[in-house]
Amino acid sequence: MTIQARHPHLLRLTDPPVILGHRCTSCSRVAFPPDPYGCEQCGSSCEDLEELDLEARGTVHAVATVHRHHRPYPTTPFTVAVIELSGGPVIKAIVAGSQVGVGAEVEGVLVQDLEDTEGNTLVDLQFQVVQ
Ligand SMILES: [Zn+2]
Repeated sequence: MTIQARHPHLLRLTDPPVILGHRCTSCSRVAFPPDPYGCEQCGSSCEDLEELDLEARGTVHAVATVHRHHRPYPTTPFTVAVIELSGGPVIKAIVAGSQVGVGAEVEGVLVQDLEDTEGNTLVDLQFQVVQ
């Protein structure tokens, strides 16, 4: 049994966790998730994109509480937030607890997810309000 990221191409399991984005070497646009087709801003090809570590930290722009979900995990209710990362890209992610509001500063935390079919423990990224 091993511990691995649920999405290893998007997340590095470090402390604090690192989100894997990319930067265009032509126009400097920073994006997440990495786009395999090239830069959305200037049209450069994917060869002009370099991997970029993004801090798992940002500001909440919107929140929604999910009460019904088509999968058993995450268990409901849970809160999804639109988060502008300090490195620029805007993502959607689960924020622990229900006390998160617009403007809150949040940071990423690794949480143990489910086991896959081979018994490996999968770890995923969630956010929590910075105290
Ligand atoms: Zn570009």
